[in-house]
Amino acid sequence: MSQQFDLVVIGGGPGGYEAAIRAAQLGFKVACIEKRKLNGKPSLGGTCLNVGCIPSKALLDSSHRYEATVHELDEHGITTGEVSFDLEKILARKDKVVEQLTGGVAQLLKGNGIEWLQGSGRLLAGKKVEFTPFEGEVQTLEPKYVILATGSVPVNIQVAPIDEDLIVDSTGALSFPEVPKRLGVIGAGVIGLELGSVWRRLGSEVVVFEALDSFLPMADKALAKEYQKILKKQGLDIRLNAKVAGTEVNGREVTLKYSEAGVEKSQAFDKVIVCVGRKPYTESLLSEDSGIKVTDRGFVEVNDQCLTSVEGVYAIGDLVRGPMLAHKAMEEGVMAVERIHGHAAQINYDTIISVIYTHPEVAWVGLTEEQAAEKGHTVKTGQFPFAVNGRALAAGESAGFVKFVADEKTDRLLGMHVIGPAASDIVHQGMIALEFVSSVEDLQLMTFGHPTYSEVVHEAALSVDGRAIHAIQRKRKK
Ligand code: FAD
Ligand code: NAD
Repeated sequence: MSQQFDLVVIGGGPGGYEAAIRAAQLGFKVACIEKRKLNGKPSLGGTCLNVGCIPSKALLDSSHRYEATVHELDEHGITTGEVSFDLEKILARKDKVVEQLTGGVAQLLKGNGIEWLQGSGRLLAGKKVEFTPFEGEVQTLEPKYVILATGSVPVNIQVAPIDEDLIVDSTGALSFPEVPKRLGVIGAGVIGLELGSVWRRLGSEVVVFEALDSFLPMADKALAKEYQKILKKQGLDIRLNAKVAGTEVNGREVTLKYSEAGVEKSQAFDKVIVCVGRKPYTESLLSEDSGIKVTDRGFVEVNDQCLTSVEGVYAIGDLVRGPMLAHKAMEEGVMAVERIHGHAAQINYDTIISVIYTHPEVAWVGLTEEQAAEKGHTVKTGQFPFAVNGRALAAGESAGFVKFVADEKTDRLLGMHVIGPAASDIVHQGMIALEFVSSVEDLQLMTFGHPTYSEVVHEAALSVDGRAIHAIQRKRKK
């Protein structure tokens, strides 16, 4: 290739494309190699925009509107006729949102003067990159810097092999042509709960099989308990300690064999989603002599600044340690570029938020009560429900609570856990507070707008010291 690039980014997902844009802003000559095609056309935006965050949220939103129309309008005094939905239109809307956003990324790259190289990239020895275009000759690029951003793919399990028809992964579950009457979901993680909720709202009987004996072990225990109770009430049948032993396809039906608390059982479904986690994607990415070290779990080894074992080569996002989240990938991409440019950028991995976009939403940042105790903190907590919040009651959104975890001795805020309306946004208040090393008292002294969901944040902070106003507080601090 005649062109000389300062930086080649392999992978055009949220990590890769944000890195490319930041580098272009800083004056680098950048190429971004992406091999994904969507509906036969080259597509940027990675898992997130094509088959992840965005299409799943489009379906969550459509299915929630349908469910709310059926069940919640009467309470507001609104009468509707018979309510129905057109699945084809719901899927077409989702595809349109995806097309709009992936097209937007292509425009952003173009507008920033970034070369989108359509095809596969592979890292060779000496920081060289082999580019195999969809059409045409293989080329070798010799950039000054490389960022590996090839993301992740779903984990497959032998007992439930994906056939892209009756047994699917998350991608297949974004496009069922009709609502399955009986839907089996393997894995009660984020994908299982989000996509299980989508199809339940649209009419599926959903059974979720979780191998562990606890629900959402990474979440704060009080939050997980409340969440499980709400999901059960909504009709999501979550079976813990349920180990899938095999699947058998008979005609248009899948029989799932499993053991629940040691007892052998089986159940028939029209579709089964396998969502038991994702793994880093390095297929054909690294030549044997590339010099890149990979962990035994397949992650590219990096330091805190995302530098790999080869000078000048960085790796980011789902391909490296840490949570597999789009916002984490994005910030790592920007950090890597800033580092290359000589800035002292650093991500605070302790303040990366987690969200599950069901209804109610669930979100948290920082330490759970259990983690804080394990780390040796003398823990104090405060919790306040949405059930007595004026705005939540007015909106009919009164399920859930805000919980704070703090250090008893220093009053330092350690974690915030939210289940309830707008949790995905409210949690950012906790993120900012943690980032600025706030004390609980800092939050107690602030004036929150009325009537807002955020008043629950204030009351939860006050309740840490028995000072919440809209509750009878037993332990009171003078
Ligand atoms: P990716 O987005 O996976 O992008 C990597 C890109 O690299 C891919 O497009 C791939 O085609 C390309 N590539 C791979 N190898 C090569 C090669 N050799 N040459 C050229 N190109 C290559 N995260 C959230 O934060 N919030 C959510 O709500 C959320 N929802 C999700 C819902 C679902 C159903 C799924 C599956 C995931 C969801 N995620 C969510 C996770 C999120 O999508 C990922 O964490 C994020 O996309 C990771 O970004 P990345 O840039 O590291 O990799
Ligand atoms: P996950 O790790 O969130 O959950 C997988 C679940 O499957 C776990 O509870 C695990 O115990 C269970 N499991 C594993 N093997 C099993 C088996 N054989 N039988 C039954 N259960 C089994 O993974 P996921 O839901 O597949 O999501 C993958 C990644 O995508 C996650 O890391 C997540 O961060 C990301 N994601 C994020 C969002 C979001 O931020 N809202 C949404 C979707 C996906």
